[in-house]
Amino acid sequence: MSLFRIHLAIACLLAGVPAFAQAPRYTLEKLADGVHAVIYNPELETEGNTLIVVNDRDVVVVDSNAGITTAKMTIAEIRTLTPKPVAFVVNTHWHDDHVMGNQAYADAYPGVQFIAHPLTRQDIVDHAFANNAFVIDVLASDIKRIAGYLETGSGRDGKPFTPDTRARAQIAHDKRVEMLADRKVMRAVPPTIDVAESMTLQRGAREIQIRFLGRGNTRGDLVVHLPKERIVATGDLVVAPTPYATNAYVREWVGTLDKLMAIPAATILPGHGPVMRDWSYARQVKSALEQTLAAVAAAKKEGLTLQQTTERVQLPEVRDSFMKGVETRRAGYEAFFRTSLIRNAWEELDAATMRADEGAVTTKVAEGVYARLRKDPTADPVDANVVIIVNEKDVVLVDSNVTLASTRATVRAIRELTDKPVRYIVNTHWHDDHVLGNQVYKEAFPQAELVSHPLTRDDIEVRAYGGNADYTKQLEEILPKRRLERDDPKTPAERRASLNTRIPEFEALLIDLKNMKPTLPEVTVADEMTLNRAGREIRIVFLGRGNTRGDLVVHLPKERIVITGDHVVAPIPWATEVYPAEWVATLDKLAALPADTIIPGHGPVMRDQQHLRKVQSLVRQVMADVKAARGAGLTLEQATEKIQLSEVRDQMTGGDARKVLLFEEAFRKSLIKRVWQEQADRTLP
Ligand SMILES: [Zn+2]
Ligand SMILES: [Zn+2]
Repeated sequence: MSLFRIHLAIACLLAGVPAFAQAPRYTLEKLADGVHAVIYNPELETEGNTLIVVNDRDVVVVDSNAGITTAKMTIAEIRTLTPKPVAFVVNTHWHDDHVMGNQAYADAYPGVQFIAHPLTRQDIVDHAFANNAFVIDVLASDIKRIAGYLETGSGRDGKPFTPDTRARAQIAHDKRVEMLADRKVMRAVPPTIDVAESMTLQRGAREIQIRFLGRGNTRGDLVVHLPKERIVATGDLVVAPTPYATNAYVREWVGTLDKLMAIPAATILPGHGPVMRDWSYARQVKSALEQTLAAVAAAKKEGLTLQQTTERVQLPEVRDSFMKGVETRRAGYEAFFRTSLIRNAWEELDAATMRADEGAVTTKVAEGVYARLRKDPTADPVDANVVIIVNEKDVVLVDSNVTLASTRATVRAIRELTDKPVRYIVNTHWHDDHVLGNQVYKEAFPQAELVSHPLTRDDIEVRAYGGNADYTKQLEEILPKRRLERDDPKTPAERRASLNTRIPEFEALLIDLKNMKPTLPEVTVADEMTLNRAGREIRIVFLGRGNTRGDLVVHLPKERIVITGDHVVAPIPWATEVYPAEWVATLDKLAALPADTIIPGHGPVMRDQQHLRKVQSLVRQVMADVKAARGAGLTLEQATEKIQLSEVRDQMTGGDARKVLLFEEAFRKSLIKRVWQEQADRTLP
């Protein structure tokens, strides 16, 4: 116990503060000779447990705490146990409370290596560290809010504090103050060693197995097993007293727990909570997962929405088995387990909804030509197809993605195909979903040059990036209000469930926006540029206006492939900035190129021109309809009301509400308006 803690305990005694607030923050427990655990009270703070394994010459640590301060406390304990240096830190998964202390280990033990699953390494970089600015904002606003409660003497529910609730609020406040100070001096210390399947560290007489048993708590959970000592550190695959499921892969978690429980263990260190002596608690978690999956599947079969399902699937026995009548566990159980579990189970059971990291699939179109296609081209936010052309010595890419994270996933997909250097990246046009990931490409492929039409270059600068500051400001204003609404017990359950899903999405978007650096094309092509690569000809051409004022098309004459950008989009065409009459003509020129394969800006690879011709005739029809409406003296509003395109809408959307909205906003209303402007003889912007 530190001097500070002792002083605090004495001060608390004098003030008549409850026992839990006087207790030390953690206990150091001996599990076997040379094997110790630092265990926090999960009912008071969110801190990952740490396993300390002292070997003949060095120390191996599992998980590094939620901050620099707590990691330093753990390091101080290690130094009371042994002067030997920490050689390895295993990060069981990417969540902050297991990785943010890495920096303290790197400072205390030069040369220490950090071990993680490769996907965890990526998630630590993309989420845990990238979120820092955002977490700083949240902590600062939380501190202000809780300090307000402490000052007025009543909590979030408006009820006056009891000694118990006041002590809890004080602990929550102090924890955040500590974390905020840590976060302000934080630097990224990512894992250095990947373990995708298993690795054994033989340290003298000690054997330490590090294994990936399958997805569960996250997509890259490692467990650490000491076979001789029969000790297992589970990471957050097992968390007590209430499990954690915000990023869970529910169905796979069941199988992963089976594999975990097959390990003969006498001592189990969970990610959070006290040391366990058998697998009974893990079995209880598995049963909760299975019951939830069954209940969600039944609700879906009845046609219930996610909100209705969340309301319906209460499973009171499951809840009581974790809460055990301790009321302070309820909020955590609801937010981090029950509602998260239902949402994730719902998404897994819903074939139409893909998890973020599974949103795209790379398919081979011809030798060395790959298309990375979105599985659901209408998913929100709409994201672009990317084409990867692997030549003899280098690589040419067509388009980036709508977010930094999504483009990072594309970079990983490219790296799985080839290590050849990327030389050129074509931005077919300026829309966000084709250009906002440019900076990720430039970071990953510094020798690459971005190519676009000169007008597209201007539009990327002014229109794609120009709106970011406004959008960031809006999100920053809206998000705290939405968080308050979500946390307000008076908010209806349905609304809360939807906020629970949307808030993390907006938070991720905000992080992206804050980290975004405008990255503009360096090479412009007003007419045509041909890249001759041993055996491959790549023509980058401007065929005329259509989707925007500066669309480039990429044509591979030998492979008979044409990459159209958003001149061609399926299933729902995009018309927000189209030049309708010219679009019709440009589509003719596109169709005349010698090609059998069309890779559109969105949607599946096409082997014929059916969709292209259908869209073209639709544009012609709308042009005729608008002309007739104008002739009859209708206003734009009246014409929009009249030209419904209901048959096409039903064909393209199947009546799905989300797709209908996209059809209406991105296509029908936009197209009618653009045709109207064009016919009114105004210059189209
Ligand atoms: Zn955790
Ligand atoms: Zn697009």
